[in-house]
Parts: sequence; C-alpha cells; structure tokens
Amino acid sequence: MKKAALLVVVLLSVLFSAPVFSLTTHAIILVIDGARYTETLGDSTHAHVPKIAALAEQGTLLANFRTAAKGSIAEDWSGTNPGHARLTTGTYQNIKNDGTEYPSQPGVFQQYRKQNSGPQESGWVICSKDKLKILANSSAPDWKDQYQPAMNCGGNGDGSGGYRADHLTHEIVKAKLLADRPALMVINYMEPDDEGHKNDWNKYLAAISASDNYAHDLWNTIQSDSLLRDSTVLFIVNDHGRHTNDFTTHGDNCEGCCKIMGVILGPDIKKGHIDSTLWEQIDVVPTIAQLLGFAVPTATGQVMTSIIQETTAIKNNNVIRMVPVQNRYFLMFDEGTIKVLNQSHGNGVSNIMNVLGIRTGNVPSKSSR
Ligand SMILES: [Zn+2]
Ligand SMILES: [Zn+2]
Repeated sequence: MKKAALLVVVLLSVLFSAPVFSLTTHAIILVIDGARYTETLGDSTHAHVPKIAALAEQGTLLANFRTAAKGSIAEDWSGTNPGHARLTTGTYQNIKNDGTEYPSQPGVFQQYRKQNSGPQESGWVICSKDKLKILANSSAPDWKDQYQPAMNCGGNGDGSGGYRADHLTHEIVKAKLLADRPALMVINYMEPDDEGHKNDWNKYLAAISASDNYAHDLWNTIQSDSLLRDSTVLFIVNDHGRHTNDFTTHGDNCEGCCKIMGVILGPDIKKGHIDSTLWEQIDVVPTIAQLLGFAVPTATGQVMTSIIQETTAIKNNNVIRMVPVQNRYFLMFDEGTIKVLNQSHGNGVSNIMNVLGIRTGNVPSKSSR
C-alpha cells in the first residue's frame, strides 16, 4: 500500500511538471495534386480511392475541409503553389504559381529547425513538381535561406527538370522516410492534376487510383517501421480541386475547386471519426505544431481540436504511453507499467490532461483511497 501511494505521488509529479503530452513526433503532409472531391471521397462508392476510404476509418475524415473559408481573402486562390504554401506555412499565400516566388512567411520546417536545432534532414520537401521547391524557403527577411529543410523536387531532384513521374517520387519518399525519419515531410504527387489539364478523363481517374495506392503504401511503410509506427501523424489532402463543371482546370472559388479531401491518421488522432467542423488548409500547420510540441507563431490558422482524441499520454522514465481514460478508472504506475484499476470512490483531485490540455480524467488523492 505504501508503495502504491508512492507511485501515485510519482505519477502526480510527472503530471504536474509537464501536464500536456502527445505521442506524435513525426508529421507527414501528403498532397494529391488537383484531385476533385467528387472523384475522391465525395463519391460515395469510393471507386477511385478505396484504400484512402479504408484508412479514413482508422482515423479522422474531414467532411468539411476547404482550401480556404468562403468569404476569406484566399477563397479564389486555388492554384498549386498558393495551396501548398497554405499547407506548409499556415498562412494565406497569394504567391505566383510558376515557382518564382517563395512564401512570404516561414514554412513549418524552418520554424521546427530553428526551435529544435534539427539537422537539415529533420524536414523533407519531396515533390513531383519542380516548381514546389519554393516550399523549402521563404522570402521573409529573417527567414530567407535560413533553417531550410532538405528538398528533392522535379525531374532533376534539385527543383528543376520539369515534372517527375509520381512512382519515382514515391520511391524517394520511402527511402528518405526510412533513412532520416524526419520530423516533418511534405509530399506532392502531381499526376491527377497533370492528366486533368491534358483533358484525359480516364488517365485522370487512373492517376487518382495510383495516388490511392501510394497513400496506402506510405501508411504501410510507416507501420512497418518500429520508430515511426506509433509516433507519426499523416495528413492526406489536396492542394485544390477542379472546377465543378470543367475538370480540365481550376483556380477560382467554385465548390469543385475549394472543397477538398482531408484524412488524418496518427496516435493522437480520433479513430473512426467523421468531423463536420469547417477546417481549412491553414489549420494543418498549427495542428502539427500542437501535436509535436513546438510553436509556429507566424501561422494564422487554428488547431484542429476536434480531431484530437480524448485519451491521455503519460510519461514515465521517458517512456510515453497512451492510455484511454474512462470515468470509473484511475491510473497508476507499477514496476514501469501502467495498470488501469477500478476506482472505489470518485473523489478524484488531480487532473490528467490530453494533448490539448483538456482534462480527460483524474487521479484520486491518497486520502480518498
Ligand atoms: Zn495543383
Ligand atoms: Zn473552379
């Protein structure tokens, strides 16, 4: 009994010294370029994205995810580079679409490296489109050419050489993921957009199906690695859709351009959850920063609080475990493991927080036992 009481005290001291924990230490943003929602998860048969639809059941599906909110200044900026820059900076970016203009605010990679003193390979920008090399830098005075992530974009890999086939990009993604286990990675697969612009409906659909396979293979690759498996959040999204009445192009505020896919999987993410909250691309970076425990003060989006699961991560001897907290249980450490015990009386006094700092349970005091 004495020992048990001591263990509770240890638990309390752990909780109070750092009350907010998450399991997530890696974040990947997978952007499937220009796949319209009506051909992805907006098609109730999921004919072209059966594997992403199955993944969504293991995580959270955003049912109301948009490039930018209706009425916002960015609602008709539905080009590739503005969309990707929203996803990596957490800010509205009206930048040129030809790769000659960097985002005006730092990317999440730069903020991470500055705060964590991470090596260049702690962030990776890997894109089929060469013009997306701009995601690895910023024109902001204090950030230009500073804290840049590693980059491999386009046919030559150095941000030149035109577009690269997605299957080649996918192989590079897997190799860098397992070699460097970066904290942050953004990926662009370009073929759905490219085939759409070429006005080839069947190849456009085939490219969406291929992207579905890449997303599935990426998740399996994460799950096959013991260091990534229980610590990686994956966002499967689009940079933009395509016009509602013309799949060959995009770039305004029509529903087809602005409503996009959002599937999120990871240890701190709700499972089997369909989220109807309006979220937009600029909300991805604040959410990643919250999960990984750093700050992106330049971002203007919001943390997607409704997708983060109400369980509790508890840290003991630098080992973090995720424990579901239910009303009639409390938690206790025992010989390095966590036991969930029946609570005799509900006089809890000490809060247990989830990653958002929201109370999800409590630990009874010594006197209440
Ligand atoms: Zn695009
Ligand atoms: Zn449109």
